[in-house]
Amino acid sequence: MKTDATRTAQTTELLQAMIRNECVNDGTLESGDEVRNSDLLETFIEGAGLDVEHFESAPGRRSMVARIEGSDPDAPSLCLMGHTDVVPVSPDGWSQDPFGGELIDGEVWGRGAIDMLSQTAAMAVGFKHLATSGFKPKGDLIFFGVADEEAGGVWGAKWMIDNHFDAVACDYVITEWGGVPVQTPNGTALTLNVGEKGVAWQRIKVSGTPSHGSMPYGSDNALVKAAEVVRRLAEYRPTPAIHELWTAQVHNLPFDDATKAAMLDPGRLDEALAAMPNQLKARHLHACSHTTFSPNVVHGGTKTNTVPDEVLIDLDVRTLPGETPEDVHEHLRLALGDEILAKIDVEPIQIDPATESATNNELFEVLTDVMTSAHRNSRIQPSLIVGGTDARFFRNAGAVAYGAGLFSPQMTFETFADRFHGHNERIDVDSIALNTELFVQVPTRLLS
Ligand SMILES: [Zn+2]
Repeated sequence: MKTDATRTAQTTELLQAMIRNECVNDGTLESGDEVRNSDLLETFIEGAGLDVEHFESAPGRRSMVARIEGSDPDAPSLCLMGHTDVVPVSPDGWSQDPFGGELIDGEVWGRGAIDMLSQTAAMAVGFKHLATSGFKPKGDLIFFGVADEEAGGVWGAKWMIDNHFDAVACDYVITEWGGVPVQTPNGTALTLNVGEKGVAWQRIKVSGTPSHGSMPYGSDNALVKAAEVVRRLAEYRPTPAIHELWTAQVHNLPFDDATKAAMLDPGRLDEALAAMPNQLKARHLHACSHTTFSPNVVHGGTKTNTVPDEVLIDLDVRTLPGETPEDVHEHLRLALGDEILAKIDVEPIQIDPATESATNNELFEVLTDVMTSAHRNSRIQPSLIVGGTDARFFRNAGAVAYGAGLFSPQMTFETFADRFHGHNERIDVDSIALNTELFVQVPTRLLS
């Protein structure tokens, strides 16, 4: 793929400036301060003579939207959506300043270099190039620099859809989590996020009877009962789900045919995962093929000398496409048994079903053409990701949303996963060049 040195340099500089703005989102409303990156992007794009709007969901939590108006109101529109916030760092684990944005030996270092400021910058540069080069799209082309992805989008994508839907409504969306080249026995597979697991967080309340801690014999101790709940959840082995995206994923794994056959058999998959030498990889594959249950927070007890009467367990449940709250309840019944289930209270904390976009559309075709042209002997691997991105809000609003990008062979899946929210996050300039070109070519092809 031919890339453009000037635009690559623009993306690199914009990325460095965004990293230095330190829009760290720690989950509190006061953090993020995305107004800094939002204003930076606004200033960068305004030079193209376009109208740019911004929206503030809360003080400092600013998102911006720019639009190249299409000539045909009936033609499909495309939104390039990049988030502007980053997750916190533990500076001790870094060998460079995480907010220095330094370019060292062909790599830009800093929090957000991968997730996802490099892509947001590449989208802005691609968008501005199209605007200034006189590109006249049929459908609208929108650039959306959005706040608060890292804490779940409440003050960003979700807030925009709930409060200013007209500003971001579109048919197609491209955002993060795709384009990492994975070497497989039959060529390079390029991941494309077409779906995400759902969230079905639960709070379990275990009750007991308070009494004096000096006489525990025969007491009704909520903590002891909660321990049994946690143990059963930890030992629960839900039946795996062999969904379409799992089948595609297994076909691309570097395993022999017998192992692949086992991984596609619900009765043998768990055994095959347990036999994998790389258990970190198995952990990811397990999450792709199972509903998962992780008891992660516990609150309970009041005093060392008092038998507790209440313990709360927060359970992180991640669901597969098609699973409903009733399915989750059935999982809990199987995990805990009827007797225990009858004695505890289960309240949902947050429910966001899994989302998935179809692949029989023009955006998928264009992405396939453009992305595979960058890597010899490559193909697209539609993937289910186990975390969440802002794509889900747009899928729920009726748009087709994919996570796409374009990374160089230097960016292996392991490197990508390791640096994502990790120490020493950085991106090579070749990947910056490819991402920039992606966001020039895809809108051009799709909207011409
Ligand atoms: Zn991200």
